[in-house]
Amino acid sequence: MTLPYYQLVAILVIIVLLLLGAWSGRKFIFRRRHLKPSEPDTLLSQSPTEKSNVDESQILRTYFRGLSYVIANETDKAVAEFVKVAQVNTTTAEIYLALGQLFRNTGELERAIRVHRDILLRPNLPEDVRRQTFFEIGLDYKKAGFFDRACRTFEEIVEKEPKNQAARRELSALYIGMREWEKALDLCRDLPATQDETSILAHLTTEVAKAAEQAGDRKKALSLFKKAVELNENCIDTLLHYGDFLLNDNQVQKALEIWEKAFLINPEFTTQIVDRIMKLPVAEREGRIEEFFLRHRGDYGRIKAFNLAYIEWQIKSGRLQEARIQLQDQLRQKRAGRKLFNLTKQLILAAEPEAAAKDENSDLIRSLLTADFRFEKNYHCQKCGYRLDQITWRCPRCSSWDSIFPR
Ligand SMILES: [Zn+2]
Repeated sequence: MTLPYYQLVAILVIIVLLLLGAWSGRKFIFRRRHLKPSEPDTLLSQSPTEKSNVDESQILRTYFRGLSYVIANETDKAVAEFVKVAQVNTTTAEIYLALGQLFRNTGELERAIRVHRDILLRPNLPEDVRRQTFFEIGLDYKKAGFFDRACRTFEEIVEKEPKNQAARRELSALYIGMREWEKALDLCRDLPATQDETSILAHLTTEVAKAAEQAGDRKKALSLFKKAVELNENCIDTLLHYGDFLLNDNQVQKALEIWEKAFLINPEFTTQIVDRIMKLPVAEREGRIEEFFLRHRGDYGRIKAFNLAYIEWQIKSGRLQEARIQLQDQLRQKRAGRKLFNLTKQLILAAEPEAAAKDENSDLIRSLLTADFRFEKNYHCQKCGYRLDQITWRCPRCSSWDSIFPR
């Protein structure tokens, strides 16, 4: 049995709480002594009495009950047990913190926020607990969809503690959601990064480079594109737009090389590359696209995206007979999508004026009617299945990067 992430977190929190419970108030006392040795030891004077020993064993039993409910995935009952603990042992802010996290993980966000705010009202709250509570409130707001408030909370934390990595990561993720690329990049630029995070950094750097180019700062744009390639030399997003930048700089050959590289990394994006070559000045693109398809047909002819891009180009350049043969071949395959339907329609309309094409058009129409069409959008997210018409590098539904591909 694999436990969900929040359950594992809850179990860890509870184990910590068990240790806290077993040591009674001593950890709390120790910290307060450590921080403020001159303060009267009020907790010590209240314990340990026989009564509190009884309370401790009751608390421990309640912890265990709560823990077993978490493991059994009965989170409502778990929450009820931990509420009892928090009512008995009102001195330990950590219990309330864990309770707030449980409320958040079970979707009771109003209660989570209330519990966390209550903690902040406590007098003499240790600074580390105050900071943690504030962070938790940021997470509550984020989960509740109050992104502005979440942003303000994390911004405040980062302002006070510029080295707080967790808060910087959370804030950066929020900025990404708001398409504030430069702010997001500034926050996570110096953080230690996993391979996945480095890939995201490449996308962010590319976005900032595009914005710099649009603002006319070509020097900044160039240095950022180079940086993005350094971060992830296989990022299709980076390579496509770096090529665009080079083309705008009249470096046609360099642009073509970089797009060719993008194609070899992932031929699923043939359309994005061919569309770019089509936009070259006439003298530059003459013969180039045909050469591109002929050169790669042997290795990539089985890839649907490659074939559809090839057919599209054939129709656009009036090679209707060649396009028709390939289209018939595609229509015989098991599943046909929206793009194939549109290409067939384009071909039939383009061939209409030719009297000789009538019979062939009838054949195509027959194939159209018998093909198993699914009129799904052209792109889909491999992580969550979301479908969309345009390529994007971050899924609008599940927020995954590099998960969108042609169908
Ligand atoms: Zn998705």
